[in-house]
Amino acid sequence: MTMETLEFQAEARQLLQLMVHSIYSNKDIFLRELISNASDALDKLRLAKLQDGLEADTSDLHIEIEVDAEARTLTVRDNGIGMTREEVVALIGTIAKSGTAELLGKLKEAKESPELIGQFGVGFYSTFMVADKVELITRKAGTEGHGTRWESAGEGTFTIDDAPDAPVGTAVTLHLRPKDEDDALYDYTDAWKIKEIVKRYSDFIAFPIRKTSGDEVETLNSQKALWARPRSEVTDAEYHEFYKHISHDWTDPLEIINMKAEGTFEYEALLFIPSRAPHDLFQRDARRGLQLYVKRVFIMDDSKELIPDYLRFVKGVVDAADLSLNISREILQQDRHIQMIRRRLVKKVLSTIKDLMSSSPEKYATFWREFGRAVKEGLLAEPDNHKPILEIASFGTTEGTEPTTLTAYIERMKEGQEEIYFLTGESRSQVENSPHMEAFRAQGYEVLVLTDPVDEIWVDVVGEFDGKKLRSIARGAVDLPKDEEKPEPEGDFAPLLGFLTEKLTEQVKEVRLSHRLTTSAACLVSDADDITPALEKMYRAMGQ
Ligand code: ADP
Ligand code: MG
Repeated sequence: MTMETLEFQAEARQLLQLMVHSIYSNKDIFLRELISNASDALDKLRLAKLQDGLEADTSDLHIEIEVDAEARTLTVRDNGIGMTREEVVALIGTIAKSGTAELLGKLKEAKESPELIGQFGVGFYSTFMVADKVELITRKAGTEGHGTRWESAGEGTFTIDDAPDAPVGTAVTLHLRPKDEDDALYDYTDAWKIKEIVKRYSDFIAFPIRKTSGDEVETLNSQKALWARPRSEVTDAEYHEFYKHISHDWTDPLEIINMKAEGTFEYEALLFIPSRAPHDLFQRDARRGLQLYVKRVFIMDDSKELIPDYLRFVKGVVDAADLSLNISREILQQDRHIQMIRRRLVKKVLSTIKDLMSSSPEKYATFWREFGRAVKEGLLAEPDNHKPILEIASFGTTEGTEPTTLTAYIERMKEGQEEIYFLTGESRSQVENSPHMEAFRAQGYEVLVLTDPVDEIWVDVVGEFDGKKLRSIARGAVDLPKDEEKPEPEGDFAPLLGFLTEKLTEQVKEVRLSHRLTTSAACLVSDADDITPALEKMYRAMGQ
């Protein structure tokens, strides 16, 4: 193959534009991103050898940073898995993440919004914040022949060519932008600056990060596995950087959870609850799961067996001492120890949230706003956990604008009220303006306002909380205590009701007099065991 000039995919081009014109103010993080990629590549090589029997020398896996101050270049080199020519084109030239186009639309609107770009995590492209030309030379482990050379100025195109002498692994060379007034801050050829960045962002990386200048070689990171260190010895900043490395999120996490189990089955876990829902939280193909390590050796990413779907936003690492290094995903699914760890993690995550409710109500409110919709799926998936899930749940209510917990609702229940009243619908205003609401409002009963699609389903599955039945005010006859001030309707309604029932026989089962209305003339009510109109609609949309 010879040299080709190719175009970046449209989304990739837009993202590069944003990077070149640097909407992210902290430029230092380009180095973190390169080191993170190198570290991933080293993990992958070690794993390919371990699990697929790839022949490779893994005795000195490392990352090397080389600076040439005169030429103003900075190179990050790894002896990891490398990439084929096709992989370079596919992985570096395009963005495969789902929801990219949508996110870019938002980014354009928000212009200078580092939070949004942070949520997206642009990885490799962040190099164009500091470089006006980037070269990548790589060779895939286990392949014959030559390697591949990629080069781009971050504009519309890149070139790709053979690289005959490339060693296994990947080297990325940045041609740093010319110096300007900001030099003091942004001189990435400065040894001290590089040391500082590596220490701050990448200290925990499990492979040595070496800096070479002339004959001198210095290892810059301590390589200590963060989850194995006592919490008191690790700073929040260190945890945050680790979180960013494993999650590809650029925002600090909301909460950090450490776990350590000793005894018959030993494991350590370090979990993070993000501070924001990823844009693909409700996309089926989104990445999810935890990282699995066995005695400090990385085994796999995205291990779904370790955390249930409804807690899919939780990120982190589980390091189990007694698993085989060769464990496959298939075995993982059946492994008794993995199931036990998963149960413990769930318990710990739920109890951590519960603690937040009292220790840090703002954090809890953020958590629920971002992830509540996903957490409620757990009410369908895990019957055993109804109670702990409902305990950390909040719901919209007719009482004020802030969501309420069920416990708080029960405390406010009126004298004689036996059940928890709720009404489901598509929006708050739809629910509040429902005729079903009239009598409840008139008599001062609080009603939960449930507007997420999943609410339609879990209320039926769950049935009750703390001995109180959950009761839809749109279904069946609700026995509200009679309003003394409201006169009984006078006269004989039987002929009218009979007439209406007959006329509407195709549409309704029965027409009856009701106490539940105050101003509306009539409303539709389902039988107690009928499905709700919204649920009916949802099933119909699903083609059932
Ligand atoms: P992310 O790391 O979030 O996937 P990046 O933009 O950082 O996104 O990298 C894109 C992809 O390019 C990576 O997923 C990986 O497959 C590939 N890649 C980047 N750097 C390297 C490297 N040093 N060695 C091997 N593959 C790499
Ligand atoms: Mg990356």
